[in-house]
Amino acid sequence: DNDPSVLLQRADMAMYVAKTHGKNGFRFFSEEIDARVRGDLELEAGLRQALHDDGRGLWVAYQPQFCAQTRRLVGVEALVRWQREDGRQVPPSEFIPVAEQSGLITVLGDWVLSQVCRDLAIMRASDVDLPKVSVNVSPRQLRRGSSVVERFCEILVLFGEPVGRFKFEVTESALMEEGGSVVLEAFHKAGFSLSIDDFGTGYSSLGYLKRFRVSEIKIDQSFVRDLPMDGENAAIVTAVVQMSRALNIKVVAEGVETEEQAEFLHACGCDILQGYLLAHPMPPPELVAYVHEHGAGAHEQAEKGRLGGSASRGVDIVES
Ligand code: C2E
Ligand code: CA
Ligand code: CA
Repeated sequence: DNDPSVLLQRADMAMYVAKTHGKNGFRFFSEEIDARVRGDLELEAGLRQALHDDGRGLWVAYQPQFCAQTRRLVGVEALVRWQREDGRQVPPSEFIPVAEQSGLITVLGDWVLSQVCRDLAIMRASDVDLPKVSVNVSPRQLRRGSSVVERFCEILVLFGEPVGRFKFEVTESALMEEGGSVVLEAFHKAGFSLSIDDFGTGYSSLGYLKRFRVSEIKIDQSFVRDLPMDGENAAIVTAVVQMSRALNIKVVAEGVETEEQAEFLHACGCDILQGYLLAHPMPPPELVAYVHEHGAGAHEQAEKGRLGGSASRGVDIVES
């Protein structure tokens, strides 16, 4: 098939897939690419419709984060979920790239923050007052400039939530992007905390961390996975923790799945643990039950349990 317009169209599709699914890559056109583009267009239309219908099918899951030392709950990360009308759950790794590529991420991001505020109010009515909530922000949202911060502030005012409760997770690339410093400065000025997500997978520039007054970094799961056996990862994690400490930046380890990982991370000075070992992401009612089960104000209760001699409190939490 040598029709130039078809060739161009196919080259375009290959480029689209290369851009949407993975950076700095390239793709050749294939049947697979054709299917992927169709699939993405379908997802985009579905997502657009969901957002148009006030987020029908969309919801937010919350994954608890724990103090590495005391194993008490210190906050949660908000993770968006999408259940399609046929009941199928679309993983964020599929629809977030599509939302970014299509520009829908701006509306989706606003919806997520609004939903988090609604969930916080509902949970508060059940006596659960979460100390900190981390919300993911994609690079494309930051490209709007400081207006994203203004928008976030408006949303919080609308729901009467204090800025101090919110942490925004951005990836390292946001620090390096043109105009990135202006936006991040705006987040800081507004009183939000900044967290660097997937740390270690990008530029990992510690100098930037200081300059942008980052309060926390999250060590990517890929470094945590084979701890403590993987000597290289162990060395990287140890070095990152030490440098962060010198800069007064807190370190969160993501994807903690085993007790061995948790112990190693705690021993090398990591501050906060997040992962399936301790708790999975869960819908608000489940989080409420979870917090209630471990005492009203889960943190103090867990603390008491620990001080009361039950050193394996974190393990208790896992098993329940
Ligand atoms: P992320 O920000 O790095 O989120 C952590 C991911 O690791 C989540 O996947 C979480 O469910 C998963 N996870 C947590 N503990 C463990 C563990 O112990 N082991 C393993 N293997 N995985 C664990 P999820 O929820 O599928 O989200 C995937 C990505 O989608 C997120 O990665 C984030 O980049 C993006 N995302 C999710 N929600 C939002 C959102 O509201 N806005 C934006 N912009 N991106 C989001
Ligand atoms: Ca994140
Ligand atoms: Ca991450």
